[in-house]
Amino acid sequence: MSTQGLTYVYKNEELSIEAFKEYRLNKGVVCKKCGSKHHYWLMSKLQFQCVDCRFRTTLRSGTVLQGSKLPYSYFFIAINLLSKQGNRLTLDEFQKHTGHKYYEPLWEFLNKLKINLDESERGLILSTYSDILSKHFRLGLIIDNTFPLVTERQLLPEVDLERVAAR
Ligand SMILES: [Zn+2]
Repeated sequence: MSTQGLTYVYKNEELSIEAFKEYRLNKGVVCKKCGSKHHYWLMSKLQFQCVDCRFRTTLRSGTVLQGSKLPYSYFFIAINLLSKQGNRLTLDEFQKHTGHKYYEPLWEFLNKLKINLDESERGLILSTYSDILSKHFRLGLIIDNTFPLVTERQLLPEVDLERVAAR
């Protein structure tokens, strides 16, 4: 598959959100207020809620995506390209793959990823995405030849308070 074709696999925002959530859970989400590691996942708000004190942590906070408003899919598009091309990846090329109009937010975004995520971290992130992708295939939520044309909302049932297993 061409690089452009592979990028397509990462362009699904719903899967990207789920994969990013999973990636964070694997790293461990710690409550800033009470230090607890047990959280609920609030799907509609994209926040973790502490089981012990109810304090909320947004999906981006405390991560390389803090402060960014760009889609989660850009994160996986970038990591996929970085894992193939390393830090030689240019802003032009990243922009081409995302189709995003403006340079500036992309520039900051890409630099942060280049600086903060090393090769093994990039591998971990991509394998998390691929786990989520295969889970969706297994559950029949995506059918091969329609992916990724399935609309975002069809992919996941709206679960407002999904219990996140304590790790
Ligand atoms: Zn707490």
